[in-house]
Amino acid sequence: MPETFDAVVVGGSYAGLSAALQLARARQRVLVVDAGRRRNRFAAASHGLIGQDGRPPEAIAADARAQVLAYPTVQWRQANAVRAEGEIERFAVEDDSGARVAARRLVLATGVVDTLPAIEGLQARWGRSVFHCPYCHGYELDRGRIGVIATGEVSMHQALMLPDWGTVTFFLDGRFAPDEAQRAALAARGVAVEPARIARVAGHATVELDDGRSVACDGLFVASRTHVASPLAGQLGCAFEDGPLGAFVRTDAMQATSVPGVFACGDAARGAHSVALAIGDGAMAGAATHRSLMFG
Ligand SMILES: Cc1cc2nc3c(=O)[nH]c(=O)nc-3n(C[C@H](O)[C@H](O)[C@H](O)COP(=O)(O)OP(=O)(O)OC[C@H]3O[C@@H](n4cnc5c(N)ncnc54)[C@H](O)[C@@H]3O)c2cc1C
Repeated sequence: MPETFDAVVVGGSYAGLSAALQLARARQRVLVVDAGRRRNRFAAASHGLIGQDGRPPEAIAADARAQVLAYPTVQWRQANAVRAEGEIERFAVEDDSGARVAARRLVLATGVVDTLPAIEGLQARWGRSVFHCPYCHGYELDRGRIGVIATGEVSMHQALMLPDWGTVTFFLDGRFAPDEAQRAALAARGVAVEPARIARVAGHATVELDDGRSVACDGLFVASRTHVASPLAGQLGCAFEDGPLGAFVRTDAMQATSVPGVFACGDAARGAHSVALAIGDGAMAGAATHRSLMFG
């Protein structure tokens, strides 16, 4: 007989730990399963979370983990959950070692995985001089030279926002063609448009173009495509919805998915992403999971 928990939380980063904390404080028996691949692990500092602004992302997560694991009803398993099945009161979760646990409720806090355009040099600079979110990393560019690399329509949004953080060049790279109205909107915000194809990104954040020119930047922004980091929500039959960057698990205001007894929180369950938002969702998911355990 596998061990039974009141709740298994899959994903032990900001959202999952926030959910687990609420459950722990309600003296519920919780297992957190975590594969240790936080989305912001590439960045040296995390910004935008009050009380923690500018701290290394791992330090924030490590403090949270230590506080949650201090509760005696919480267990931690470093593993990748590969399968989830069952129904409310009777879920089963299997990890990559073949170990199985039973759970009355599930909380999916798996985050998302980013896919960047296949431009040489981009991935290696992700989180260091190539970013996705101006609120997270724009301020530190000190109103310097900013490049936005187009991935599609969604990049218009980045290009129009970023002039509040510096002088912006919008690199179209053959991936996006603004229409007349969009060009006028870019001009009104003072955005320079560079139509040439990108050969590679080199140095700190220099965009080398196919025609031999290069444009040195202090930072680059690119809208990644995202997908939910684990197949578990799909296996359980959770409904998804489309966001500007990719599909995410549909939840209601209590973070309940379309499957009774399954809750989801953090990047995996929303279109706009940040540590603060993930923590907020996690707190709601934890409380709602407890409510569901008490009242069905
Ligand atoms: C480069 C970069 C920099 C960023 N900088 C900032 C910033 O400065 N400020 C900010 O607010 N936001 C920042 N973000 C966004 C932030 O990282 C996310 O919003 C936040 O990490 C979401 O938290 P989460 O708990 O939902 O997911 P994550 O932090 O991504 O954690 C998900 C966890 O679930 C685990 N997991 C996934 N699937 C499984 C499975 N099947 N079994 C077990 N475990 C699993 C993962 O290994 C991971 O540990 C940044 C993002 C990137 C890409």
